[in-house]
Amino acid sequence: MNYQNLRKKMVDEQIVARGIRDRRLIDVLYKIERHRFVPQESRSSSYGDFPLPIGGEQTISQPYMVALMTACLSLKGDERVLEIGTGSGYQTAILAELSKEVYSVERIESLAKRAQELLRELGYANIKIKIGDGTLGWSEEAPFERIIVTAANSDIPPPLIEQLKEEGIMVIPLGDRFSQILTVVKKTKDQIIKTEICSCVFVPLIGKYGF
Ligand code: SAM
Repeated sequence: MNYQNLRKKMVDEQIVARGIRDRRLIDVLYKIERHRFVPQESRSSSYGDFPLPIGGEQTISQPYMVALMTACLSLKGDERVLEIGTGSGYQTAILAELSKEVYSVERIESLAKRAQELLRELGYANIKIKIGDGTLGWSEEAPFERIIVTAANSDIPPPLIEQLKEEGIMVIPLGDRFSQILTVVKKTKDQIIKTEICSCVFVPLIGKYGF
């Protein structure tokens, strides 16, 4: 299977054609081998326009959703980013290419370990992964310029608002268990501004401030 051709087609038809314009992000999507993050049995579908199972009843998100969430973060390269829900580690790798450091929390040990091993093998030295409840954030490493939550919740977990730096940006799917709105949250000196982007469907965020 020619993964490079499939990857180019994925980026051109699913990402660029749908309006993603961030050049750095597009180049990273051309480069990162998404199939390496997908279990062997579904590798041939790695570049399809849909999420795929990765074990533990979890998914690697649809490529366009990964790209859109990343674009919403407006990364310039010098940010410290907190990711909640490492999953396969694919989104983590994209963030690591586009920012200074990535702190990623995953509640399922087997997924966290698999992602950590692969990301190390791929040479990423600016990623730290922790197994635990991401609704609590990562207080020892806070504050963060950016936070991305890759699982759905009814509201923003309070620790994540606290751990977001002033002028920081968070992206999170908010809604009920079955459908959500991808939401961009900006934190200013005295308020939290939410902007709704589009409807989406994510697996639930499970934890103290989750479902
Ligand atoms: N971005 C990932 C990727 O590229 O593969 C996909 C993430 S998947 C849609 C959501 C992940 O969030 C799952 O791996 C799930 O176990 C994790 N998750 C759910 N609740 C969590 C919590 N409280 N803390 C950390 N991870 C959580």
